Amino acid sequence: DFSVSLPNMSKDEIGELSRSIQTLANDLNHLKQERNEFLASVSHELRTPLTYIKGYSDIGRRLSLEEKERIHYFNIIHEESEHLEQLVKELFDLARLDQNAFSIDRKRVHICSYLQSIMERVLPAFKEKLIQLKLDCEDNLYFSIDPIRFDQVFLNLLDNALKYSNENSTTQIKAFKMNDSIHISIEDEGIGIPKEDLPYIFNRLYRVDKSRSRATGGFGLGLAIVKEIVEAHGGEISVKSKVGKGTCFTLVLKED
Ligand code: ADP
Repeated sequence: DFSVSLPNMSKDEIGELSRSIQTLANDLNHLKQERNEFLASVSHELRTPLTYIKGYSDIGRRLSLEEKERIHYFNIIHEESEHLEQLVKELFDLARLDQNAFSIDRKRVHICSYLQSIMERVLPAFKEKLIQLKLDCEDNLYFSIDPIRFDQVFLNLLDNALKYSNENSTTQIKAFKMNDSIHISIEDEGIGIPKEDLPYIFNRLYRVDKSRSRATGGFGLGLAIVKEIVEAHGGEISVKSKVGKGTCFTLVLKED
């Protein structure tokens, strides 16, 4: 651990300086602890699909297996490999976002057309689950964003709306101007998020219900990525939710 033992009682500049150093050391210790926790969680997330892959490939290579059974095991192995691929991709995205190693290639974008095109991409999945997707957009709104990065923001948020909603519900996207800012909200009528979990959902690898999320395939990295991208554009994201009623994410960005 980073520890300092400087006299910090005095009210002069030396005292001031040693108090600053103490605060810095505390921050560093905190970061170190966070990093260790993150690494432990990542290892855990990696281990689960690997256990399946190892186990089922071991069974799958038995000579006595029937073809049908073998295919079943290979399907599981394939699915778990896809989980791993997704996890690695998301971790890589986060690492690049952390290092500011990506460039933001801003373009002036007409918000309604942009949201319309996003909507068309996800519509088949929503239709399949019988969830209505509505877009309510004030015309003549523009913002300056990197469309490729922002695709990830909206696709993640809509993917969550889809994953955590029941059939025959509605998800609504709204875009409007308020107090000289652009507000874009994505509101679903899904299962909602408990109040005690709300402060943590943008944290890395945080999931409300670990067992359920595994079934739907999420690692709890999506919202962390969303937040980083929005903030890298100078915007903000917030969430409101009620269990059993639904969830609403709102992005606030500058108008262009
Ligand atoms: P995941 O890949 O697990 O969905 P996210 O980072 O996207 O990870 O979300 C973190 C957690 O927040 C999810 O596991 C889920 O519990 C909760 N969550 C996110 N979006 C919604 C939503 N629209 N409705 C209900 N819960 C949500």
